[in-house]
Amino acid sequence: MSNSSFELFDLKVEVIEGEKPFVCSHKLGDAFEVRGENLHFMSDRPFSMYALSALLPLLPAKQRPLNPIDWMATDHIIACPDPHCGARFKISRIGKQVVERSDTTIVPLPDTNDWT
Ligand SMILES: [Zn+2]
Repeated sequence: MSNSSFELFDLKVEVIEGEKPFVCSHKLGDAFEVRGENLHFMSDRPFSMYALSALLPLLPAKQRPLNPIDWMATDHIIACPDPHCGARFKISRIGKQVVERSDTTIVPLPDTNDWT
């Protein structure tokens, strides 16, 4: 890995059982993957936009290396935002890729002396 690149984990988000029945349209095993900035959905398998709205804020952090003490590094099960629904969503790291900074931004790296 060069000093102009960084690592991102590829993720899989999968519907798993909780302690209550599902209320929403989730099906066990429904899933999507996150690779770089893109979400890859299974063909002909819908995914709830409400569940997606609860998951989206977490995904960029889960893609990055984390301090092992950080809760974000250890908590992988997310609840459906419908409080009556038993669905849970498991976020797993399924791979890692090296990303060139220039493929993600046109903002130049600041001089390290400017990092204060
Ligand atoms: Zn639900």
